[in-house]
Amino acid sequence: MNRRALRTGLTLAAACLAAWLGASSLVDSPDTETDRTETSYERFAAVVARHQAMSERVAAISRRLRVANAPLCRVTRPDAGLSTHRLEDYPRPLRPLALHFMDLGEEGRFIRSVVPGSPADRAALHPGERVLSGWPLREDAALVTGSGPVALDPDEACVAPAFVIDSPVPNAGTDGREIALSTTLVDQAADEAALAFIIAHEMAHILRDHKPDGPRWMAELQADGDALTLMRNAGYDIAATVAGWEAGVEVHRESQSMSATHPPLDIRLENLTRTLARLEAQTGGFRTLDD
Ligand SMILES: [Zn+2]
Repeated sequence: MNRRALRTGLTLAAACLAAWLGASSLVDSPDTETDRTETSYERFAAVVARHQAMSERVAAISRRLRVANAPLCRVTRPDAGLSTHRLEDYPRPLRPLALHFMDLGEEGRFIRSVVPGSPADRAALHPGERVLSGWPLREDAALVTGSGPVALDPDEACVAPAFVIDSPVPNAGTDGREIALSTTLVDQAADEAALAFIIAHEMAHILRDHKPDGPRWMAELQADGDALTLMRNAGYDIAATVAGWEAGVEVHRESQSMSATHPPLDIRLENLTRTLARLEAQTGGFRTLDD
């Protein structure tokens, strides 16, 4: 099982476990065994749907940042704004649940999600559609689904995928290849720009090739500043983003008190304000990352 499959499986397992625990406390006095089963299934469906909605929200923001900043990335890939999955991606014990809740069949590859407004969306692709060939996307081969070849015009995008893991701890991080955000952090993000800032910060660590064991404070401040550049390139209102970050500083304090890796919030805010002023003083379009 590859890393992605394992991760997907673990994510689903955590969601299902949470659902079972929630279900057992929710069902006070079921009249019949059937009622209990239905309630549990409804609870499963709600947890899986919530996780799916968060994943789609993160995928849309991540794609916007990855496409806009493709010229800054060493590794890029055609991206049409869709993800796919197969039943084999899930651990064997969870496959019946995946079949029931995840809109996929027993054999073959299926579309899992489509980012609104993306080339996949414009081509009218939708979750649950079977993919016959052409995945992963390549420049020289068409994607073929159950309804035939699809004319896609994918964008070139940075390879820095972002995904959501079930966790009560508000946290985000990267292993240098992928970005993980906890469900609690996604829940706490005040708006799309706040979430984009978190994803852009982790993307900056990947672009800068920051080492997890390197000097942290300098790397964190650099990633904060870079995040504003990446967001500006993607058309976000970075002045509003910094204002929102400042307004939410107490929330950051709560999630940061567990971490010794980040500089004090006052220093981060001062750095963000200074970077914002520098970026706002510049006219014109696309920015590279500063030295
Ligand atoms: Zn960081």
